[in-house]
Amino acid sequence: MRLKDKTALITGGARGIGKEIATRFAKEGADIIIWDVLDEGEKTSEEIKRLGRKSVFHKIDITNLANVQKQANDVIQEFGRLDILVNNAGITRDNLLLRMEESEWESVITVNLKGTFNCTKAFIKYMMKARKGRIINISSVIGLFGNAGQSNYAASKAGIIGFTKSIAKEVGSRNITVNAIAPGFIQTPMTDILSEEVKKNYLSLIPLKKFGLPEDIANLSIFLASDEAKYITGEVIRVDGGIAM
Ligand code: NAP
Repeated sequence: MRLKDKTALITGGARGIGKEIATRFAKEGADIIIWDVLDEGEKTSEEIKRLGRKSVFHKIDITNLANVQKQANDVIQEFGRLDILVNNAGITRDNLLLRMEESEWESVITVNLKGTFNCTKAFIKYMMKARKGRIINISSVIGLFGNAGQSNYAASKAGIIGFTKSIAKEVGSRNITVNAIAPGFIQTPMTDILSEEVKKNYLSLIPLKKFGLPEDIANLSIFLASDEAKYITGEVIRVDGGIAM
């Protein structure tokens, strides 16, 4: 029970990596708020309640700052505080630069990077007042080494790393840690849609010779959210089977 009686919010928590983080946090004793655009979030929230924890699902698009701020106020009203924020919601719209539409660039930057800004901005004042907090931003190894056909995604994920380090410096004196996780290839609905050829190519580059699972990201998230990680901030930790080594 490493997160006993903590309150945690996970964006994009309806499915995939976010769902696993939400469920595992609940098993460690945390109450859970799920923010997602997908209705599936309700089912995930129900599953968490069956684990004996309090949980709510808010159907929300994190790209709209006004909405995010309003919902954040509602969370604070209902739960009294937020101890842990996991900025996990993310999308891909892959294309080579020559063919990339402005809308593909904008949507990825807006969800992945501006969404992280919106949610962090909405909760940081409450964490600063409480003089404690944990923020975990889900980046990607693509933000570290780039990828042909993913310039929008790579820019958003590299942006998250710069954002993480800057905010870590801004709020460190208030006992708030801000860290980023850079996953490699993790088996989720996001990667299930990739062709067998692309998957085979990735696999050949992974020293551990297997894809990661959502639990691999959840394990590190629990550690970063726990008291054991109280002296770690501004860090970017890869969970990638060694692919970005
Ligand atoms: P996923 O299964 O697609 O889950 C992401 C969730 O976020 C989805 O439910 C998605 O809904 C939701 N979402 C998208 N836009 C949103 C918005 N504007 N507001 C609120 N929720 C929104 O993806 P995943 O694989 O679990 O990925 C989770 C995070 O890990 C992402 O940030 C991703 O970039 C990162 N990551 C994943 C991998 C991997 O290999 N899977 C590797 C590195 C990093 P929709 O389905 O409607 O978009």
